[in-house]
Amino acid sequence: MSGATTAAAGTARAIPFDNSYARLPDAFFSPVDPTPVEAPRLIKLNRALAEELGLDADALERHGAGYFSGNVLLPGSLPLAMAYAGHQFGQFVPLLGDGRAILIGEVVDRNGRRRDIQLKGSGQTPYSRRGDGRAALGPVLREYIVSEAMHALGIPTTRALAAVSTGQPVYRDRVLPGAVFTRVAASHIRVGTFQFFAARGDTENVRVLADHVIERHYPELKGIAPPYLALLDAVADQQASLIARWLGVGFIHGVMNTDNMTISGETIDFGPCAFMDRYDPRTVFSSIDRNGRYAFGNQPMIGQWNIARLAEAMLAILDEDQDKAVEMANEAVGRFMERFQDHWKAVIRAKIGLGADEQESDQALIRDLLVTLYEQKADYTLTFRRLADAAENDATDETLGALLEAPDALSPWLAVWRERLSQDKTPPQDRAAAMRRVNPAFIPRNHKVEEALAAATDQGDFSLFEALNDVLANPYEDQPGFAAYAEPPKPGEEVTATFCGT
Ligand code: AMP
Ligand code: MG
Repeated sequence: MSGATTAAAGTARAIPFDNSYARLPDAFFSPVDPTPVEAPRLIKLNRALAEELGLDADALERHGAGYFSGNVLLPGSLPLAMAYAGHQFGQFVPLLGDGRAILIGEVVDRNGRRRDIQLKGSGQTPYSRRGDGRAALGPVLREYIVSEAMHALGIPTTRALAAVSTGQPVYRDRVLPGAVFTRVAASHIRVGTFQFFAARGDTENVRVLADHVIERHYPELKGIAPPYLALLDAVADQQASLIARWLGVGFIHGVMNTDNMTISGETIDFGPCAFMDRYDPRTVFSSIDRNGRYAFGNQPMIGQWNIARLAEAMLAILDEDQDKAVEMANEAVGRFMERFQDHWKAVIRAKIGLGADEQESDQALIRDLLVTLYEQKADYTLTFRRLADAAENDATDETLGALLEAPDALSPWLAVWRERLSQDKTPPQDRAAAMRRVNPAFIPRNHKVEEALAAATDQGDFSLFEALNDVLANPYEDQPGFAAYAEPPKPGEEVTATFCGT
């Protein structure tokens, strides 16, 4: 059922849509209009992002409820649901697709980058199976908060352009207010998009997809003939880098299924994701991840597993000789862990203030710190933030110790660390400042996120949502007025499970 109307010309500065995905063969998607909602209301517009996209933020502020609910189609948009497959918790599902998301079009932004604009929760599509095509307010706000926080942390991610409430209920384990989320991405092409064609033996479209992806995300590979092994390596490298950066800020994606892993290297699908408070590599938040498949410390291994699925899906185009293709694929998958280790080393060295000059003992230094944090049940974010203070001022060791079960537990390590730092000429103030640029003071703490979502869902109060977005926009700055947002949960405040947005 469709009832969306197209906006009259002149309601907003014309949006220069250029829909390259819609020009791909029919098998790639199903055209479908959003299903209108009863009483859309704009909750939030990301004005800075709208402007980056070349859109008229003032007009969107006035008319956004219509556009971002799907009630009114922007002129030039070609709404479609993308086809994809995917491994979900290790099980292959040959047909998933956008069951509650609709790509409304692509724009080339002010920096010349092509970006997808997608509505999530905008009604059923041919891929909805038994789902209602809708999203509840809580998960929409979570994705808004966490994806924007991720961006502010400097980590590649899809972005939040807008959130609207629909005025309609959605039925989950209880009745919840409905909402639509507008997501912006470099593209929504996933590992599962390759799997979709590979599972059908459609080699031609695997190649069409690979060429589209190279043109769009990896144009530097165009000169290589054939470019497909280089593409696989490039995607693997982006993902290895992304996961290293997640680990650097304590992020747990929660559902690293192959349909939730982008080819561009952006973080996507903030369902049951969460940031770790106490350091423990086994941490799992997702209520649906019963075996801890996607636990914090498993993420690199799962990244490699997913890249192996991508390699499989690309086998037919890697080489005509399939034995040779398998060998190439295996080598590429093998390189993932080396790449991850290199990226992680760069991340963790920066976090403890080490420069590029590596010493053999550095590995033990890093390991000993992490072991102590684990044993002492220390808060991951605050420990590293206070380590930056400790890099320029011994007198702050007490505040650092206060994060541990045994306040002196880090003292021997601090002595070794300071000795190591003293071999490097960087002035302590500069080192501390550099450490503060990579060790955030603020992350989206689960108890704060849940508090904001509950106030919005239960009382229609968005003030906590707004405050959280504000503080998380500058995660590397001390913001004394927001001290409570930097603190780990107090006993009784901990949130131990997050739920999928479905
Ligand atoms: P996700 O867990 O959000 O990554 O979604 C996995 C698959 O389920 C995708 O194919 C989604 O489009 C589909 N899906 C999730 N929620 C819904 C819903 N409420 N209605 C229809 N399809 C959905
Ligand atoms: Mg998904």
